[in-house]
Amino acid sequence: MKHLPSVDVEMLGNMLDALSFSVYTFDRERRVMYSNTAARKNQASAEPGSFIGAAEPGHFDVHQYFNEARERIPPEDLLIIDRAFKGIPTRELLIEHRDMVKRTHQWLEVTCVPVMDEDGEFSYGILVSRELSLRKKREEKLRFLLESMKILSITMDFKDRLQRKAELAVPALADWCSIEIVTSDNKIERQALVHREPAKIQLIREYEKLYPPQPGEETATQRVIRTGKGEFTPLVTKEMIDAVPNLKAEQREAIYKLELSSIIILPIGIPGKTLGALTLAYAESNRAYTEDDFTFFTEFAQHLYVILDNARLYDEIRLRDESKDIFLASLSHELRNPLAPIRSSLELLRIQNKDSTLDPELQVLEHQFSHMSRLLNDLLDTTRFIRGKIVVQLNPIELADVMQHVVQALRTVAEKKNIDLSVVSDRTSYIVNADRTRLEQAFTNLLNNAIKFTPPGGKITVTITVEDQQLILKVRDTGVGITSEEMARIFEPYYQSERVQNANTGLGIGLRLVYEIVHLHNGTITVASEGKDMGSEFTITMPLMAASTATQKDAEPESFPTATTKKVIIVDDNEAAADGLVRLLKALGWDAQALYSGRDLLIHLEKEMADIVFVDIGMPEMDGYDVIEEIRTRNYTLPVVALTGYGLTEDKQEALSAGFTAHLTKPIGAAELKATLEELL
Ligand code: ADP
Repeated sequence: MKHLPSVDVEMLGNMLDALSFSVYTFDRERRVMYSNTAARKNQASAEPGSFIGAAEPGHFDVHQYFNEARERIPPEDLLIIDRAFKGIPTRELLIEHRDMVKRTHQWLEVTCVPVMDEDGEFSYGILVSRELSLRKKREEKLRFLLESMKILSITMDFKDRLQRKAELAVPALADWCSIEIVTSDNKIERQALVHREPAKIQLIREYEKLYPPQPGEETATQRVIRTGKGEFTPLVTKEMIDAVPNLKAEQREAIYKLELSSIIILPIGIPGKTLGALTLAYAESNRAYTEDDFTFFTEFAQHLYVILDNARLYDEIRLRDESKDIFLASLSHELRNPLAPIRSSLELLRIQNKDSTLDPELQVLEHQFSHMSRLLNDLLDTTRFIRGKIVVQLNPIELADVMQHVVQALRTVAEKKNIDLSVVSDRTSYIVNADRTRLEQAFTNLLNNAIKFTPPGGKITVTITVEDQQLILKVRDTGVGITSEEMARIFEPYYQSERVQNANTGLGIGLRLVYEIVHLHNGTITVASEGKDMGSEFTITMPLMAASTATQKDAEPESFPTATTKKVIIVDDNEAAADGLVRLLKALGWDAQALYSGRDLLIHLEKEMADIVFVDIGMPEMDGYDVIEEIRTRNYTLPVVALTGYGLTEDKQEALSAGFTAHLTKPIGAAELKATLEELL
């Protein structure tokens, strides 16, 4: 067996010289005893006999050290040699060293180990230092890119997204980062400006306010956007600032204060189409960008272009979509206005139709009227849901009641189509925390669909059960069924299947509303069907409450109030609506009068007090809120009821807190009028 030669001193020296990191040994006097080639190459003071880590005065001003979070490490924490004398080793300390004079920065991993003699005294120390700059920088750039991509999916708001991107660069890859974009009217607008200290941002803002670009003058950013070419100043020197022509002395001072040391400005765009500019700068950290950095950020700016372009397209589409929603909202709102006088006229006709000769016509009118009201309400609701404007008022309510009410209302429609509609439940009471009106709306939509999409002779079954404190409500029909393609889109707003066109008289929004309502109640909705003509089953789940918190349902009004001598005033700028209600009230025997503006009402009340006033909210000049404010300021104590075109929960609350006694949603029927008058008079 051949023996390997044992390691001799020469071989050991060669081995140490082959290493890429620096190795030193030092004695009790801090003198370098030995240093390998790498150490001597990296550090002038590494020759044997030189002093190591002996900080001259001012050393730590020139040589600054930072931890991974980019916080400056105080000099006393850097005394690794002194610690070694006491027998304390330091292992793999990761620090960034910045030479503030040479403007270089490097990442170092330092290890310092004492070797003790037999008496336990310090004999000599070994110092190993490894340069990690390249690896560290690559890591930082990679992290920057990865985080950058993440932002894309988290937030869709354009400006927010750019700000977040700029934030990612600071402080690892820049002290300053700003993003400018070209707006549709060709102005350059800053979308993001980031620095770690807000005070510094203030400094820039002040500078820009004090010294805006003069007419004809072009800033570097404007130039980069115009030419589409990036600009790179590796080292900003005082001489460069001094050489800029036409600067006032205090302006020059203000620039010095920014301490800029290295700047990259890049176009965000492709040749011929620049969407903006990305600026990165090192300042007080006194670092300098390299060609490598310039290339990296040039590529990044190209990615940014793609992102910006997509974001712009997305925003454009969203904006268009939004204006469509707003249009639909105002359309349905406007279309609801004529409903008020139609409804009161219908009610009036019903009262006058004592011998029932008009019954068939009235029935048609009433049926079509409620259909139209429901469509308009749904349309208005959908647009408001999409825009996040709906809030629900949750109260403990009896769900079985709500369902019973809905089924009763739809039973005749089902019977007419010879459809068997039944409810099966595993207990008598189900208390849920819900908004009664909204829940009713959701169930009505589901059952209406089931009736609509089930041919005559079919069957609809509602089952209500409880599992693990979860209420499970199923609406099952034997209708046209749903194919898998339809299923994927069925809850989208405005979606309607083309397959069942003749059954389809709606707007494709009913299910979307159900979906939104269920989710506002912390519930879920799913759909199942075995396909064409195999029927459908919608399943809603929502949390169940403890039964003890149940509330009683409101009693239904039964008959109209008897005539009284009480004076009722209706104020609405829609004259037909006001007149319609007055005629209805008069037919019921009330002393009613219509006025068409808030001002007329106030003049009237000065002369003659009323017993109750109904005031429309949306009126020109003086709206309902102005009227109630004036009435309450004058200390009139009469009940005042707000009338609005749309019954939002938040509207209702707003009306009550403004001083209204009650709130009604147009169109108002005789039953609601009766209930309100009875309650308030
Ligand atoms: P609309 O009923 O106004 O068309 P919805 O949003 O309520 O709008 O429903 C969207 C689509 O979902 C309908 O057009 C229909 O194709 C399908 N759909 C809804 N309910 C059922 C059902 N019970 N059976 C079969 N298809 C249904």
